[in-house]
Amino acid sequence: MSSSLVTAAYVGAIILFILSLGGLSNPETSRRGNLYGIIGMTIAVLATVFGPRVTAAGIPWLVGAMVVGGSIGLYAARTVQMTQMPELVAIMHSLVGLAACLVGFASYIDTSITLTGAEKTIHEVEIYVGILIGAVTFSGSVIAFGKLSGKIGGKPLLLPARHWINLVGLVVVIWYGREFILAKDIASGMTPLIVMTVISLLFGIHMVMAIGGADMPVVVSMLNSYSGWAAAATGFMLSNDLLIVTGALVGSSGAILSYIMCRAMNRNFISVIAGGFGTGGGAPAAKGAGEPAGEVVSISAAETADLLREAKSVIIVPGYGMAVAQAQHTVFEITKHLREKGVNVRFGIHPVAGRMPGHMNVLLAEAKVPYDIVLEMDEINADFPDTDVSMVIGANDIVNPAAQDDPASPIAGMPVLEVWKAKTSIVMKRSMASGYAGVDNPLFYKDNNRMLFGDAKKMLDEVLGALKA
Ligand code: NDP
Repeated sequence: MSSSLVTAAYVGAIILFILSLGGLSNPETSRRGNLYGIIGMTIAVLATVFGPRVTAAGIPWLVGAMVVGGSIGLYAARTVQMTQMPELVAIMHSLVGLAACLVGFASYIDTSITLTGAEKTIHEVEIYVGILIGAVTFSGSVIAFGKLSGKIGGKPLLLPARHWINLVGLVVVIWYGREFILAKDIASGMTPLIVMTVISLLFGIHMVMAIGGADMPVVVSMLNSYSGWAAAATGFMLSNDLLIVTGALVGSSGAILSYIMCRAMNRNFISVIAGGFGTGGGAPAAKGAGEPAGEVVSISAAETADLLREAKSVIIVPGYGMAVAQAQHTVFEITKHLREKGVNVRFGIHPVAGRMPGHMNVLLAEAKVPYDIVLEMDEINADFPDTDVSMVIGANDIVNPAAQDDPASPIAGMPVLEVWKAKTSIVMKRSMASGYAGVDNPLFYKDNNRMLFGDAKKMLDEVLGALKA
């Protein structure tokens, strides 16, 4: 394949990637977006493999690598649970980072690249920066994987003078960058490169260790952005335009997503990165002063069915627990039944419900819930006072009124779905345990709130049975 044909194929792939991103921004067009992405990536890989830079001798190696990588990817995609998706994404990002590091070292020791003067310096800066971003992405993503999968505790690790440690690391990296550029030959340039790589790896570990459980979603999306920049850096090192543009697309969309998520959690991006917020989560929160100590009123599935049957309008707020219980299909059955009886049923989706952005939208779409009754938090929050029943299915942090009422709460200021403003709110969960952020929820103790304890799928099956009886 001639190089101009490769360039044309790359331009086509870039256009498809942009169309893909556009398609993925809306549930109705997301399948098409995915398809564009698949076609774009296929064109990109074929154009690269058959392009002028790959010799015939290299093709078996590439095919071998693609078979191994493709099989691992296929296996992971088939076996991973929806709730483990953020972990999978994190570990995938680590591979992008690792690839950037390896390409960096390979291009440095590649004796076939004979550049001089400014070109040589630019190439070395690309290598140095590429390895730096790659190493931070690699080690940060591995730690994020560990935290998300529960292998490492969610508590932030706060070393004394941690900002100073980071600053010293930065100064050393800059100093060694100078040494690297001034190095006379590959052997003497290797030491600064290795020192910088080690510092960057440690920085990645330190950065993510300092971030608490509640901020992990932002961290995953931020690492997504880093992996894009690492890919773009790799593109510079290899003089591959497609990789530069694709990396920049991933880098900037990840950064925009991080910003949107920070806004949804009322967190400042810089303070997320600086770390120190959030706890392990999952355990019942300790009761502190001013906690709404009180009784909760539980309710049975049959009583829940009665309330739903009598309601004119219902808002369902799904959360992580719905994903764990895989209750979305029963949720759809209940929705269908109620809508047939003339009840106005809608869904309120919080931007960080579940464990990844869009988690709930994906599950509801899978269960065939119509898109037009699935509304964003901002679109539906004002409607709770006119709602008879708000039904919270395995959600906790995203419906916590302490975010609005208690300035001392770790989630103070995070926008939440105001389910307690409905005539009756029903919270479906197994126990009084706290959610991801590890904070108690005063919603449970409100007069108009009822608790339906049990696994979401099991309880909803009972509710459906009672509704149909
Ligand atoms: P939460 O983690 O706050 O609460 C989920 C609740 O579901 C738990 O309190 C749990 O209570 C209940 N639950 C678990 N399993 C079941 C089950 N089988 N049946 C019924 N209930 C169950 O989830 P939310 O969706 O409300 O909030 C998301 C949280 O996750 C936020 O803090 C967000 O910041 C964070 N996060 C979000 C990400 C994202 O991008 N969306 C990514 C990573 C974290 P119990 O144990 O009593 O059943």
